[in-house]
Amino acid sequence: MIENRICRNIEFDHLLFFAGMRFGSRKSWWGHGRPRPQSHEGLDLCFFVDRSGRYFRLDETVCVPAAFDSQVVAMIPDFLGTTVIAAHEVDNPTGRCLVLYAHITPEKGLHTGQRLEAGRCFARISGENKKRWLPPHLHLSMAAEENLPPLQRLDWPMVNRLDRNLFMNPEQILDSDFQVMEFIVRTDLYEAFVPVSSGGGHSGGPGAGKTGLCHETP
Ligand SMILES: [Zn+2]
Repeated sequence: MIENRICRNIEFDHLLFFAGMRFGSRKSWWGHGRPRPQSHEGLDLCFFVDRSGRYFRLDETVCVPAAFDSQVVAMIPDFLGTTVIAAHEVDNPTGRCLVLYAHITPEKGLHTGQRLEAGRCFARISGENKKRWLPPHLHLSMAAEENLPPLQRLDWPMVNRLDRNLFMNPEQILDSDFQVMEFIVRTDLYEAFVPVSSGGGHSGGPGAGKTGLCHETP
């Protein structure tokens, strides 16, 4: 999915996650590493390694492709940009499955009702975080439409209060391998990872030598 949309001169190899980026985790991946008030209702995509072993982070130049043939059914604000909600019917006989693409900037003119072909770029990752406590990233959540409140009323305060069992794990739609890294508190992620648009990543990863990369390929 997103790995095909990165700069042409970087050969994507695999994604990197901190535990707190994964679905269901109570950990955070910013600042002091205080636990989340509730478990993570989705998956955060931000870091990856290229074929030469260089470490990068996504930035606001990266476009966001639709994971499925789908239709835009809502767009709501979130604390880092906009969330586009798209509905698809693939492999889900009981009803539509909704994918929430959060912290993005939709392309100009994107509107509710618009059809998205799988792979079509419809947004870029949002760069809105002036305080720099969390680098630009894509948050994905997935749920059956029947498990969520009516779309007209849906907003993030409401999503945050929902039972986490109503959501699905977006890792099932990734088409690349990943590794899980250990988060070291107070790491400046803007510094530790090179933005993809700069073209040249660090070898050896964030805080090379002190960050233990544990190889947990699913
Ligand atoms: Zn998230």
